[in-house]
Amino acid sequence: MVCYVDSTVLYYNNKNGINSVQKQMKDQEQLLSVSDLRVHFPGRKSGFLGKPLPIQVVNGVSFEVYKGETLGLVGESGCGKTTLGRALIRLGHPVVSGKILFEGREISALGNREFRFLRKEMQMIFQDPFGSLNPRLTVGQMLAEVLLVHGIARGEAARKRIEELLNIVGLNSEYYNRYPHEFSGGQRQRIGIARAIAVNPKFIICDEPVSALDVSIQSQIINLLKDLQRDLGLTYLFIAHDLSVVEYISDRVAVMYLGKIVEIADSAELYANPKHPYTKALLSAIPNPEPGGKKERILLNGDLPGPLSIPSGCSFHPRCPVAKAECRNREPKLRNLNNNNSHQASCLLYE
Ligand code: SF4
Repeated sequence: MVCYVDSTVLYYNNKNGINSVQKQMKDQEQLLSVSDLRVHFPGRKSGFLGKPLPIQVVNGVSFEVYKGETLGLVGESGCGKTTLGRALIRLGHPVVSGKILFEGREISALGNREFRFLRKEMQMIFQDPFGSLNPRLTVGQMLAEVLLVHGIARGEAARKRIEELLNIVGLNSEYYNRYPHEFSGGQRQRIGIARAIAVNPKFIICDEPVSALDVSIQSQIINLLKDLQRDLGLTYLFIAHDLSVVEYISDRVAVMYLGKIVEIADSAELYANPKHPYTKALLSAIPNPEPGGKKERILLNGDLPGPLSIPSGCSFHPRCPVAKAECRNREPKLRNLNNNNSHQASCLLYE
């Protein structure tokens, strides 16, 4: 692995094989299957007697996550990726329609009590490590609470397990009695990771876990996540907007735009051979790490529209550099682009 830092960007050289042995996903068991998932927030009323217009944040998303893999989820801020991640574990606004199957069990059909048992299997690591930790509890108290609530350990057994967890995530077990404000940002994210793995989950949603960290700390946390995945057999949905980080950690990558997945492929394939014009534009913005290397940057028109004003037809058409007339009123569907269905994109250019 080559991992090096310049003043603004952390580069990961993935070309020599970190993910080059792509897992044979088709032979692997599905852990999670999402079909036509929609999450709409209640909007403002249109007029005095009008009904509130729904804000379509996640708008018909389907994908699978296979056991042991990392699926990267990328897109601009506001595209719905965090809402999608939270919906998978029933955090935040409820799912409006669609199915989420975890090991074949439909999550939305479970009552709160049944879901609590399943929730142990699905954990989340949050973007803001400070905001996600209770400032009034020491690390030991916080992790002891998790172990107690899930019936894993209490008393001296809990203390031993917590010290073990702290060591696993690279923290000194003497930090047991420290409060969150006594740690650096990277250490706090390690505590967040310890909390997530404390209940022996199978699936972890990593929601921008390194975005709030210094560049020099990012690679340490990413490598910790990779080590834990190998040692504990974890499966990740890795949400991020930094495409270099996503390339380094992901086996497959899904690209989201305005609440929909517009392209999904094996990581190596997507980065070498992007198909959707939006993916091409995102990838063109990654700086070339080679000395003197240049790249043609694809500049998009305007900003990401809000979910209240989703354009007709292909929602990307007002910004697409290769849009055709029919893109204004025909909505493309996600289609297979190769024989083994490992690369899909939604663009009328491929229909
Ligand atoms: Fe661009 Fe048309 Fe393809 Fe949408 S369908 S990405 S507007 S070419």
